[in-house]
Amino acid sequence: MAKILIVEDEVPINTLIKKNLELVGHECFSVYDGQAAIDVLKDHSFDLILLDVMLPGLDGFKVFERIGRVPAIFLTARSSLSDRLKGLTMGADDYLTKPFEMLELLARVDAVLRRTKKEEKSFAFDNVIIRFDSRQILLDGEVVDCTPKEYDLLEALVLNRNIALSREKLLNLAWGYDYEGDTRTVDVHIQKLRKKLGLEERIKTVYKLGYRLEV
Ligand code: CA
Repeated sequence: MAKILIVEDEVPINTLIKKNLELVGHECFSVYDGQAAIDVLKDHSFDLILLDVMLPGLDGFKVFERIGRVPAIFLTARSSLSDRLKGLTMGADDYLTKPFEMLELLARVDAVLRRTKKEEKSFAFDNVIIRFDSRQILLDGEVVDCTPKEYDLLEALVLNRNIALSREKLLNLAWGYDYEGDTRTVDVHIQKLRKKLGLEERIKTVYKLGYRLEV
């Protein structure tokens, strides 16, 4: 996965972001002020920077100006529209307004990494390979006959692997926010995926919540 630098002075937020990105397999490095970010970037390269705007000393914009072209997502305060626009104008790839849900962060990170071609085009575990470009699932090297929704569901589980996802969340991720079906649809599709791919041990049922892909 990707190497990500987290520049955020609020320690609990920084730690929470790091923990979640590491859960899905990214390699993360945390710094807590702008100068530290610049120092680290002199010696190390990263695929993506999560850059808080309000930092002690050098703010996020000043840091961004000094680090050259590295894919970046600004973390901004909800109130500050000008900050959000400024970040994009400067060439940032995206911004997130605080407070944000971790799943939203993961989705944005994923989108930027894919755009910048740093994201994997496939993910493999056991004898299963999921190919994001061609939207195919392979089992023992053979393409599995699956429906688009089964693919979408597995992709959602893989991209948020090791995280417990509620049935509602999975419904939103795989079927879209405007889908009005009920959450049993998720259960039915999970059963099919488990059976087709032999993932009974990998896709865990999370009591009273939903499911988690453990890899
Ligand atoms: Ca801050």
